[in-house]
Amino acid sequence: MRDLFGIRLTDPTEDEVASVFRAALAALNGKRKASIFSLPVADVEVLGKRTVSEREGHYELTRPDSSRGEYGRVLLVWWTNPGGRKLVRVRGWREGQHRHGGPGTPEDMYRFADQRALDSRPVVWHLDPERIIAAETGTDPEWVAVCGCGAAGSPESLGWNHGMCGPCADQVAEFGLDAVPREPGLLTEAGFDPWDVMFTPNGRYIISSGYGKCRVWDCASGELRATGDCPRPTNDVRPSVSPDGRFVFLCDGNQRLTFLSLEGDKPRRVEIGPFGPLLTAMWTNWPGKLLVQRQDPARHLSLVDVEDESVKHMIRPPDTSARLFAVHGDDPRLVFTDRHRATVARLDRDGKLDVRARFHIGDGALNRTGNWNSGPELVRFTPNGERLLFIRGTEMELWNPARSKALLQVTFPASIQTRLSLRITNTCSFSPWMV
Ligand SMILES: [Zn+2]
Repeated sequence: MRDLFGIRLTDPTEDEVASVFRAALAALNGKRKASIFSLPVADVEVLGKRTVSEREGHYELTRPDSSRGEYGRVLLVWWTNPGGRKLVRVRGWREGQHRHGGPGTPEDMYRFADQRALDSRPVVWHLDPERIIAAETGTDPEWVAVCGCGAAGSPESLGWNHGMCGPCADQVAEFGLDAVPREPGLLTEAGFDPWDVMFTPNGRYIISSGYGKCRVWDCASGELRATGDCPRPTNDVRPSVSPDGRFVFLCDGNQRLTFLSLEGDKPRRVEIGPFGPLLTAMWTNWPGKLLVQRQDPARHLSLVDVEDESVKHMIRPPDTSARLFAVHGDDPRLVFTDRHRATVARLDRDGKLDVRARFHIGDGALNRTGNWNSGPELVRFTPNGERLLFIRGTEMELWNPARSKALLQVTFPASIQTRLSLRITNTCSFSPWMV
């Protein structure tokens, strides 16, 4: 969808903001006589005042345009960068009717869910949604700005200034727009079609993997540091970076596990195998150790040690068809589920599982959601590891595994997993609005 109106302002006056906002309304109204987009003069003036006096904020106006079967939107965003500059952007665009339904319809629910998710994003994201992405770290998403020059980091640390980093903005101010690289090709290049991307926890590298290939870029310089083969994964086992940022698990294709070691100056490829296809692969906090579950009928687990390139232990799951869903902590706790049966166990260094809790999802004290006979699609620990969230389709439950007690059981009108774009593994993921 292309913007019908788009203007950026730096340190504007109240009147400038008000007049640009009115111009955006006029652009959305087009040539028609009846104004669908209008706001009382006093309201527009208040918006001008708020923009100048408040540090950051956003205001959105959405109106149905029945003659076109569309909705129109006008968005005003203001954000103060670390240099104290007030950055303002006013955008106007139209959206198709397909996203909107009458009150109470599923489309309506989706729209509200989308809107809530959008509203919960930081203001600076609304300012430059093209360049600010969510890096999911297992807890709250971290918002990372990516400049066309390759610099990536928090908008504050980059001195973010209208779609680019502070140094680039200074270059533009002095030498004009052509003084800086503006290509958004940071994560890709000709002939390379990435399907996943990760940041290392220290922010040093961006790793982008696609079928057949992977690329590693230096976050500070934007330089391409390594390229390599990345066999097609056999399942939906996503790549992930180890918590200490030293290793990347890339894939389980071609009968081997493929990793990158990020130690030293240049990323190095590590292959371990032969190894069959995986159901899941999850990093532990133990240095260089990845816990994997095989796709074979016994669903055995193994601890793969990337440091000494070996595979340790054959760990039997607590039930024959139990699937590993989440790993948490230094003394790792593992969550398995076998349809509605959930098991929480501690893993020791010898590869022994010590079962700590067993309970039935959907069969807790509140018992509002009925039995889950197909198992969750997503399981997450809360950051402190004391609670567990289970999600499947429209259903969500929060558990205290120590007491085997359901704290919350909810059925949503629409599938929360797909609406929130939560992914099955706990690696980074891009928001659906950004890809
Ligand atoms: Zn830059």
